[in-house]
Amino acid sequence: MSANQKHLATRINTSCPYCGVGCGVSVEIDQAKPIKISGDKSHPANAGKLCSKGLALAETLRLTDRLLHPSIEGNPSDWETSTQLIANKLQQTISTYGPDAVAFYVSGQLLTEDYYVANKLMKGYVGSANIDTNSRLCMASSVAGHKRAFGSDTVPGQYSDIEHADLLVLVGSNLAWCHPILQQRITNAKIQNPNLKVVVIDPRRTATAELADLHLAVKPGGDAALFTGLLAHLADEEVVDYDYVEQHTSGIEDALISAFSLSFAELELASGLDKNTLNNFYHLFAKTPKTVTVYSQGVNQSVIGTDTVNSIINCHLATGRIGVPGMGPFSVTGQPNAMGGREVGGLSNMLAAHMDLHNAEHRHTVQEFWQSPAIADKPGLKAVDLFQAVYDGKVKFIWIMATNPVVSMPDANLVKAALDRCPFVVVSDVVANNETMAFANVKLPAAAWGEKNGTVTNSERCISRQRAFRALPAQVKPDWWAISAVAKKLGYVKAFDYHNAAEIFREHAALSAYKNTDTRDFDIGACASFTNDDYDNLIPFTWPRPKGGKNIESRFFANGNFYTANKRAQFIPIHVATANAQPNNYLLMANTGRLRDQWHTMTRTGRIATLSAHSTEPSIELNLSDAEDNGIVHGDIVRAYVGHTSILVRA
Ligand code: SF4
Repeated sequence: MSANQKHLATRINTSCPYCGVGCGVSVEIDQAKPIKISGDKSHPANAGKLCSKGLALAETLRLTDRLLHPSIEGNPSDWETSTQLIANKLQQTISTYGPDAVAFYVSGQLLTEDYYVANKLMKGYVGSANIDTNSRLCMASSVAGHKRAFGSDTVPGQYSDIEHADLLVLVGSNLAWCHPILQQRITNAKIQNPNLKVVVIDPRRTATAELADLHLAVKPGGDAALFTGLLAHLADEEVVDYDYVEQHTSGIEDALISAFSLSFAELELASGLDKNTLNNFYHLFAKTPKTVTVYSQGVNQSVIGTDTVNSIINCHLATGRIGVPGMGPFSVTGQPNAMGGREVGGLSNMLAAHMDLHNAEHRHTVQEFWQSPAIADKPGLKAVDLFQAVYDGKVKFIWIMATNPVVSMPDANLVKAALDRCPFVVVSDVVANNETMAFANVKLPAAAWGEKNGTVTNSERCISRQRAFRALPAQVKPDWWAISAVAKKLGYVKAFDYHNAAEIFREHAALSAYKNTDTRDFDIGACASFTNDDYDNLIPFTWPRPKGGKNIESRFFANGNFYTANKRAQFIPIHVATANAQPNNYLLMANTGRLRDQWHTMTRTGRIATLSAHSTEPSIELNLSDAEDNGIVHGDIVRAYVGHTSILVRA
C-alpha cells in the first residue's frame, strides 16, 4: 500500500458491556489499523472517560475461544436441527409435566431486545413465570424496596445528582473498583465543590473509602440498624420535612415507633459502631439538605437487603430529599442491563413494562397487547429456588443465556449437581467452554459485544444503543433470534416473526405506553414510532419519554405522585434483629467483593494480560487480630471453610 493512500476511518458509538454505569464507548475502525476504543465524549454517563476494563475492550475481540456453531451432545450441529430439538424437548416437558417444569435463567448481559423476547415467550406463550436472571443476585432487594416504598420500581435520581450534592453517602458500594467512572465523578465533584463531604459505609476499608471524609466500618448486615437509628435522630433533631411527609407519604408514625424502640446500646451492638461515630454521621446527614445516598451490592446481596433499602428510603422520605437535584436515594446496578431486564419484566415476580404479575388488570393488559394464548398468573422460581427445583427434579428443562451460574451462584456444588441431574440443559454463550457449558445438552453460539445490536439501560434510567461494528462470525446469532427461532417452531410464528432488534424495541416501547394513563412510571411510548434509522441513530436518553411528551422531568417524586394506590410513598417500619446481631456457629464473618479489573466469572476479562496484572491470584483479607489469632501472616496460603466447602487462597 502506498504511503500516500488514505484510509477513511469510521467511528461508531456504542456502550460498554460491563458495569451498570453504562459508559458510552467510541469505536474507531480503520481497515489498516487495529480497532481503537475510547470513551464517547457525548455520552452523559462518562463524558469521554473509561475505566481499565472499558479501555481494554478491543483486546476482547478475538475468535480463538468462541463458540461458532451450535452443538448437540458435544457434536457440531446447525441451527435448524438444534432449535427443532429444543422446541421438541420444551413441548414434551410442558405436555408431560406442565409449564412450570421448564425455566429460563437469563442475564443482565442480555440486551433489552433479547430479554423482551425471552420474557414474552416464557410468560405469554409457555404460560409460566419461571424466568429469572442473574440480576436477581445483584439488585432484587432494591426492586422490592422501591416497590414497597414507591409502588413502582423507580430509581428517582440521576448521576448528575453527584455534582449537585453536598453530602454523598456510599453504602455497601466499592465504587472505585465496581463503578470506577462514578468514583471519578465524585473525585472531580470534590474538587469543584470543596464543601462536598463523602461518607463510606462498608465493613472493609476499601479503595473507595480512601476518598471518604468519614468511613464507618459497619458490622456486616448492620446498615439497616444504622439507618433506622438515623430516622430516630432526624425526628429528634426536628429536621423531618412535615410538609412533604403530610402531602406525599403514609406510615411515618409506625416507622418512627420502630426506630425509637431501638435503644442506643442496641444500635451500637447491631451496627458495630460507637456512639461518637454514629453521632458524627447522624449530625452530618441531619444538617445537609443536599444528600444523595448511593447503595449497591453490599446492601442488596443480603437476607435483609430489602429492609436495608427501605431503611435508607425512609430517611430520604422523612426529609423530603428525593427527586431534587443533589438529593435522593440512589441504587446503582451491577450489570450493564440490569435495568433493561427490570423494564421488560425479566425477574420471575414481574411482568413486562414495569407491570405486576399479581395485578389482574396488568396481566390482562399484557396478554391483550401480546395476543398471547396464556399469561403467567403467579410468580415463578427465583434464582436460588430455581436451581434447587432443578436439583429436586421439579424443573426438567432449563435454558441458560449469557451467564455462568456454576461459578456465579451461591452454593456452586448444588448448581453443578442440579445441572448434572437435569434432563435437558441448553446454554447460549459466546465462549466455547466455561464451567456451565460442561453440562449443556445443546450449546448455542451467541453474538458477542461488537456483533450484537440493541439497547441497554444504565443505573440512571438512561437508554443507550449497543451497536454492532463487526459481522456475525460463522453461525453465530443474536439471542433474540435464537429464542424466536424456537418460538416459531413451537407454532408461534406471527408473534415472534422479528427481523431485527428495532422491531422488538418498537414493540417494547408500544407496550410501555399501552393503556398507560400516567399510572405506570416506565413509558417510552415516543419510541414506538421509531423508524429503523431513528433506532440506529438513537441518542442516549433518560426515560420516561411518553408519546407527545415534551420537557419531561427526568427525576421522579419531588412533588410526590408515587405509583401506590393513594399516590403516596409508604414508610416501612424496620424491625432490627438485635438478638442476632452477633454471628453464631462460625468463627469469622466474611464478605465477598469484586476485583477491580475483572468482570464476573472472568470468562472475558480473565484472558487479557493487562487486566490480570492488578490482582494476579485470589486472596482473602483478614482483620489483623483475626490473622494473629489464627497464626496467619501476610502472604500465607490459607484454607477458609464454610461448612464442608472450602477455598484455598493467599492471605
Ligand atoms: Fe465500562 Fe463500567 Fe468501566 Fe464504564 S465504569 S468503562 S461501564 S466497566
